[in-house]
Amino acid sequence: MKRILFEVFLAIALVGAAVFGFMNQKTAKTATAQITELKKAAEEAENSVKEKEKAIKTAEEEAAALHEEMAAMEVKSNQLEAVKAALANGSTLSDLEGAYKKEKSLSAERQVGLGAIRLLTKGAEDPATLEAFRKALQMSELGDRKNTICAAQLGLLAAGEKVKVMSDCLPKSEKAHGDKEEKDGHGKDDGHSKAKDDGHGKAKGKDDGHGGKKDEKHAAPHWGYEGEMGPEKWGKEFPTCAAGKSQSPLDIKNPFVKTRMVVTADYKEGPLKILNNGHTIQVVVTPGSKLRVDGVAHDLLQFHFHRPSEEKIDGKPMAMVVHFVHKNASGKLAVLGVLLKEGNENPGIKTLWANLPKEEGVEYAPDGVNFNPGNLLPREFDYYSYEGSLTTPPCTEGVRFFILKTTVNIAKEQVQAFPFKMNARPVQPLNGREILTN
Ligand SMILES: [Zn+2]
Repeated sequence: MKRILFEVFLAIALVGAAVFGFMNQKTAKTATAQITELKKAAEEAENSVKEKEKAIKTAEEEAAALHEEMAAMEVKSNQLEAVKAALANGSTLSDLEGAYKKEKSLSAERQVGLGAIRLLTKGAEDPATLEAFRKALQMSELGDRKNTICAAQLGLLAAGEKVKVMSDCLPKSEKAHGDKEEKDGHGKDDGHSKAKDDGHGKAKGKDDGHGGKKDEKHAAPHWGYEGEMGPEKWGKEFPTCAAGKSQSPLDIKNPFVKTRMVVTADYKEGPLKILNNGHTIQVVVTPGSKLRVDGVAHDLLQFHFHRPSEEKIDGKPMAMVVHFVHKNASGKLAVLGVLLKEGNENPGIKTLWANLPKEEGVEYAPDGVNFNPGNLLPREFDYYSYEGSLTTPPCTEGVRFFILKTTVNIAKEQVQAFPFKMNARPVQPLNGREILTN
């Protein structure tokens, strides 16, 4: 009996031990799994901490950079405030305006300068601020002064006007970063007057007459007459040059439409102011000379030369052409073209060429030299006329052309002495325009 009891106990003990053992084993397994999971969680936590630390570091670095930038901006802003204060306390604006009025001539550069001082002292609300920049833009577009165009466009933008700013005018940071180095170099040039910028580029044009290739590396000219900068490429920077439908110059040929429009020139003598703007020789005219179209007065602003003539007559160009550029009170432009044919020496040209500026981009006013633009006109005033455009970028349309049928002589040597070998835009499609003749 004892033995049976013993065996029963033994059996129970064994079963108990087995159950206990099984239970233990299960617990151990669960514990191992839990430990693995915990380890994993710890690892993940560690990684996430690392990531967060990294993010914090980046943020700190960004904050430091921003801080530096802000400090630099503060310096700029302080400088600007100082300039503002200096200009506002003095009478710079009125002094300048008074001085310019006396001289009776206001170049685009001076105009843009006045706009800037006005913006600083009187603010963008002053309508004269906008007017100054607008005028400067108009004048500089006529004469193609890139830096002045930029200054005027940026000025208008700063004064709250909606203007399309040329890509070359935008601050460096807004341009692609890839070509930063190059642009930085460029930027320095831009800081100076356009005179220096383009002036340099074209200086070499004097020697080889090509203006373009030689100086690409030095200071890429804004535009030119051949290669990468040539007329075929103008449209990239100046869309109207490519997309315009009434562009100049034209090949003037039949059919013509008769007109009774009466055109007369009343040009006055004034002190000579002559400029090599990098694309042509330009004479800046003192106010008072007028072209009348059916009695409507157009003020002569400037005249300049192209070699060979841009206009062709029946497919043929002349040695050169003078373009007299005028504007009437409502802003309409009119260009009078006088074709120069190789022949006798031209006394008017002789005076001009004797006073060619030594430096490009700088207006030269030789002492005691007067000039009457009328010296370059023929007596006969029969003309061809058409609606066209500026023949240089930005190729603005809405320009009325009058090309005189009577040519004026120029000696071969005088043609050769012109500092540009080729500065003529090719003839443009007529696109259904009428060519009028009186
Ligand atoms: Zn021209």
